[in-house]
Amino acid sequence: MNTYEPVMGLEVHVELNTKSKMFCRCSADYFGKGPNTHTCPVCLGLPGSLPFINKEAINKCIQIGLALNCEVSEKSLFERKNYFYPDLPKGYQISQYRWPLCINGKITLENRKVIRINRVHQEEDTGKLTHQGGETLIDFNRSGVPLVEIVTEPDFREVKEIRDYAKKLQQLLRYLGVSNADMEKGDMRLEANVSVRQVQSSKFKVQNELPKYRIELKNINSFRFMVAAVEYEIKRQIKALEKGEKLAQETRGWDEDKKCTYLQRSKEEAHDYRYFPEPDLPELIIDSQNIKKTRDSLPELPWDKSKRYESELEIKKADAQILTDPKELADFFEAVLEHGKKHGVGVKEIANYLINKRVDINSVLPTQIIEDIKGKKVGVIGDKEELEKIAKEVIDENPNLVIVYREGKTTVIMVLVGAVMKKTLGKADAAKVREILVELLNDPGV
Ligand code: ADP
Ligand code: MG
Ligand code: ZN
Repeated sequence: MNTYEPVMGLEVHVELNTKSKMFCRCSADYFGKGPNTHTCPVCLGLPGSLPFINKEAINKCIQIGLALNCEVSEKSLFERKNYFYPDLPKGYQISQYRWPLCINGKITLENRKVIRINRVHQEEDTGKLTHQGGETLIDFNRSGVPLVEIVTEPDFREVKEIRDYAKKLQQLLRYLGVSNADMEKGDMRLEANVSVRQVQSSKFKVQNELPKYRIELKNINSFRFMVAAVEYEIKRQIKALEKGEKLAQETRGWDEDKKCTYLQRSKEEAHDYRYFPEPDLPELIIDSQNIKKTRDSLPELPWDKSKRYESELEIKKADAQILTDPKELADFFEAVLEHGKKHGVGVKEIANYLINKRVDINSVLPTQIIEDIKGKKVGVIGDKEELEKIAKEVIDENPNLVIVYREGKTTVIMVLVGAVMKKTLGKADAAKVREILVELLNDPGV
């Protein structure tokens, strides 16, 4: 039995959250809108209409490229990718091929491995087809929405690396605020390319040669399905090679019911896109000043933030990762830290509180967290001594109730318990408070 290893590369499509579409003024916010209400002659591909470039989209594409350590090309070009399918009214998609906007990037995974990014290019989305009882309905609202394609080199060797990469990318896109990156809504779509090769017996031999084929897994809309499809595919390919079969380039889909991949398109039918430069658009020129400006204005990236929490705040790696995902939680955490400083509540306590309580940051204010932590201290940490102190205060503040109690009307103790609880912000144990109050009230010396 031979040993095999998978060789995998990922292509990810990301829909940008720009106000308007890539080449026209139509609103790009189409989700849940009536079919074909966000259209115009440009995105419907009507003759005589001319596209123009959306600057906001280009800027967001550059942000993604820079965050992935790419070189941004000062000169890039749009090209026509020709194919006939009803989701594209023009008969071609405007994309980038030979001169992409961003190239040669890299990203580091959890296992310290570096994945090379081949390109980050700008293109446009297609319309949406719905097949219904022998008929096909077309909605062009999505046609022309800015789409960025991020392509890695075939550097993945383990399925968990793919998952890690996709998660990291999603987190990055959300940090940059360039896309909602919601997989269910199709904001982020993964395509995995999978092949397997025999592992050479000598460990010292560097393996550079890629398998001569690759299977492209398409239209998979969740991390879980992607992992399942890739795992299935690796096993299927190894089995085929062991049987002496020759594998060829194919596109396959994932059947979630049968838990297997199935053939969608084989090499014989592969498209020839006949790319050529888009004659209706100028070259895309980005001057280096602008690239620098964009680079300088990038937010702190999730992995940098997480590392900073580890080194500056001495937070454990796992906790730092929780606190930096999503960015809103990190922002909230930092706001709580600020208040904590003023009230002598430390980093560890705040971090633990946020993590253990799974605080819903949308329903509380940072100041409340500090109050809660301080309140909790009395009941749980400060305990008896602290509570006694507060109980004595309450007794001093309510001489009349004390007299009434001592005269035999002991039910008034509940009012005193209530007063103590109020001072502790409800974080003390009421039964214990009652016990302490009874003790104090029965002590004639108090
Ligand atoms: P296409 O548009 O034809 O799919 P791309 O260049 O956009 O071509 O994407 C090719 C993808 O396939 C890249 O992610 C690349 O890393 C990956 N890839 C290339 N060769 C192999 C291989 N032998 N096995 C697995 N993946 C591969
Ligand atoms: Mg592909
Ligand atoms: Zn339009």
